[in-house]
Amino acid sequence: MTDHDTSEGALVLFSGGQDSAVSLAWALTRFPRVETIGFDYGQRHHIELTVRPGILERLRALDPKWKTRLGEDHVVNIDSLGQISETALTRTTQIEMTASGLPSTFVPGRNLIFFAFAGAVAYRRGLKHIVAGMCETDYSGYPDCRDDTIKAMQLALSLGMDRRFVLHTPLMWIDKAATFELAERIGGKALADLVIEETHSCYIGDRANKFEWGYGCGKCPACQLRAGGYEKYKAGRK
Ligand code: ZN
Repeated sequence: MTDHDTSEGALVLFSGGQDSAVSLAWALTRFPRVETIGFDYGQRHHIELTVRPGILERLRALDPKWKTRLGEDHVVNIDSLGQISETALTRTTQIEMTASGLPSTFVPGRNLIFFAFAGAVAYRRGLKHIVAGMCETDYSGYPDCRDDTIKAMQLALSLGMDRRFVLHTPLMWIDKAATFELAERIGGKALADLVIEETHSCYIGDRANKFEWGYGCGKCPACQLRAGGYEKYKAGRK
């Protein structure tokens, strides 16, 4: 941790998913003031928005320092993203690989739009750091999760608002198993359990079926990534 990290605030892109929840915990260990932002864009797994308040509440209960650090939560409605996107995440079309080599869950430009909104909120709130859970290690191939995209976005936001923003992606180079390990390292078994029980990854929005790795349909690409990561994590703990 460097000195400047302790004196400044951060805005965390917090969807309610596993990666963003671990990134939020990571931010809480580093920044004295942490705010969160989530987006309602007509996603099929709208349920991820409803799990957010419960996760925030449990994070506050885990550590008194986190309780003081964790501030306002911003939920921004961008229905228009759902309107302009013809994808399996915003419509009930089949989740499959497309001719472009990307899954049909890819919402073009989604993370770029999220960062633009996050930048505007961070500017207004005086928060220099923006933290997000993108990862290009065992991801679905979304080009807006890549490190180069994030670096370009950092430059675009800093130039476009004439303010220095620093974008952090603590999960960029680790896989899903290591994400579970990171949660355990940050907040012990209590945080790992919180991530398993409360966060939501399933694209279908299934919270009726509970597995060892959490709730989901168990079949969609997001569930499979999460289940595979959990198995590897569990094997590594033995
Ligand atoms: Zn699923």
